Amino acid sequence: MSQAVVSLYLVPTPIGNLRDITLRAIDTLQAVDVILAEDTRTSGILLKHLQISKNLQSYHSFNEHKAVEKLVERMKKGETFALISDAGTPAISDPGFLLVRAVLAAGLEVQCLPGATAFVPALVSSGLPNDRFVFEGFLPHKKGRKTRIDALLNETRTLIFYESPHRLLKTLEQLAEAFGADRQAAVARELSKLHEETARGTLVELIDYYQVNPLKGEIVLVVAGCAEQRESRAEKQEKKQAEWKKEKKSRKEID
Ligand code: SAM
Repeated sequence: MSQAVVSLYLVPTPIGNLRDITLRAIDTLQAVDVILAEDTRTSGILLKHLQISKNLQSYHSFNEHKAVEKLVERMKKGETFALISDAGTPAISDPGFLLVRAVLAAGLEVQCLPGATAFVPALVSSGLPNDRFVFEGFLPHKKGRKTRIDALLNETRTLIFYESPHRLLKTLEQLAEAFGADRQAAVARELSKLHEETARGTLVELIDYYQVNPLKGEIVLVVAGCAEQRESRAEKQEKKQAEWKKEKKSRKEID
């Protein structure tokens, strides 16, 4: 099978520590014709640091159908693009999805490079089960916020939220009210930066902690899933297995 030519690369950039850029990300940024950036000023600093001087174009107008169409037309003519966001993996709580969808719909190839993103280190270092998890991104600020939280009441998988420091306490309080104050959680703050910190405990312990400790910088909140459901599911499964064993035994006896 021949390899398709890639028209759009999604290139993760550091979420703090500039050394978290990959060698392949640098190669790709150097190789493409155009780099699309969420904020050309922010990305300009990174590119200068990497000594990459390249045609940099802003993509803040990606919600506009026409802007996306224009880019797709240029890709059809053979231009190659890299998409970068202010930090982390583009299209993860960042603009990019609409472009990815349009490029694929046009029959062109998209490739996302593996690399920095905030939720993976937050989840792994939380110490909460990570065999199954749900990425919730940002909760709605006002309308739909309670509905969203209520929809997660019986969720057994570990939950991941992106949150701003000035809204964290309110979120912890709302989650404690909905899920119970003793639900385990972790707050990962300033990942890969100088003041990196992960605070772990129950929701109420985290509320107490952040009422007296500084709450600045970027935050990922990881919350354990609903344990009762998980336990009752495990119990049900055990019961089913026991029933099946009994059934198998009685079948053997009949034979
Ligand atoms: N595309 C990014 C990614 O791949 O993670 C996410 C972009 S989203 C607009 C920004 C949010 O990501 C922040 O509000 C915060 O919740 C989280 N975040 C980004 N950098 C972080 C860091 N260094 N430490 C903790 N959270 C971070």
